[in-house]
Amino acid sequence: MELYLDCAATTKMSRRAIDAMLPYMEEVYGNPSSLYSKGQAAKEALEKARERVAACIGSTAREIYFTSGGSEADNQAIISAAANGAKKDKKHIISTAFEHHAVLHTLKKLEKQGYEVTYLPVGENGIVSVSDVENAIRSDTCLVTVMYANNEIGTIQPIREIGGVCRAKGVTFHTDAVQAAGHIPVDVVKDNIDMLSVSAHKFHGPKGVGALYVRQGVILNSLIEGGAQERGKRAGTENVAGIMGMTAALEDAVSEMDAAGKAIASSRDRLIAGLRSIPYSSLNGDEHKRLPGNVSFCFEGIEGESLLLMLDDLGISASSGSACTSGSLDPSHVLLAIGRVHEVAHGSLRLTTDRPLSDGEIAYTVNSVKGVVERLRAMSPLWHDLENGKRAHIFKEFEK
Ligand SMILES: *Cc1c(COP(=O)(O)O)cnc(C)c1O
Repeated sequence: MELYLDCAATTKMSRRAIDAMLPYMEEVYGNPSSLYSKGQAAKEALEKARERVAACIGSTAREIYFTSGGSEADNQAIISAAANGAKKDKKHIISTAFEHHAVLHTLKKLEKQGYEVTYLPVGENGIVSVSDVENAIRSDTCLVTVMYANNEIGTIQPIREIGGVCRAKGVTFHTDAVQAAGHIPVDVVKDNIDMLSVSAHKFHGPKGVGALYVRQGVILNSLIEGGAQERGKRAGTENVAGIMGMTAALEDAVSEMDAAGKAIASSRDRLIAGLRSIPYSSLNGDEHKRLPGNVSFCFEGIEGESLLLMLDDLGISASSGSACTSGSLDPSHVLLAIGRVHEVAHGSLRLTTDRPLSDGEIAYTVNSVKGVVERLRAMSPLWHDLENGKRAHIFKEFEK
């Protein structure tokens, strides 16, 4: 069986997204900044796309800026808010310990430039507390940035409430909604959001294209200098075909969200129930306040990396929450943030889907993971220590 269970990393492009792109590569290939009709046709499609994307998140077209993806949108939002804060002697930023690296590494860079960043803790359930945000806000706070839904453990944050607190205190609020947009309802007005990042390839659009929403009245600085594209806020000839693909994909995702979300969540819950039958396993993050397609587990006594390679041999593409895959021995900052100890954080597995799995696929996945975990444990000195009682188990609920 072939199963792609890594939709949080990227998704396959939808047929409709591909079809929406083709005319802008083959026929309407003019530069949107050119005055002749081939250019103006591209410009017209681009501006229509801006309206369509805006409609999907409850904003207006003039609040949408197209970018090269989620990372660029995060960088621009944060760097811009920081620079505009500094002009008013506000150099304090609030974020969380489990953001995406596009946010965390940008904040690290700002810290080196003299900004102070408060990284709020994350509860064991993978959810940030609204009152922690409220209590951390100071008179010199220029930005709060909290992700909408986490990319590793799928937990959904109380964004509307956090946005409300920030709005009441007059602090700019940015959210990385890359995992949320197209998967759960996002409304920038109801959610009190000032800036929001999305990325097309997480909802069946093309890679290398995204959008940044910036509420009217919030000042946005450019990150890339050059031509006057994107109302002077993002230079560079627009990725017209990519934007058309993203727009079609987002519209589809939003219109199918209700029905698809329910079916995917129900398949997710069956997968979770199956994996829980593996001894000394534990679900990462809140069972209910999570993305419909996210399942994330830790298993005692194994290494995530070998688990992934062995699952790949069984036809399953999955991911671990662990940064081991990128050659580092540090376990995932997300799992550490929710209080997983190092040895458990190393044994993590993330399975993310964009469709409901059939009963057969769920059974195949559960059996594959179960078999691989057993084989790895049989080879693991750590597991033998646990079995011999030389070490104490961490997930006590399995103790007889
Ligand atoms: C994928 C992802 C990003 C980065 O988006 P790109 O378009 O790949 O640059 C940022 N934040 C989160 C939460 C993501 O999942």
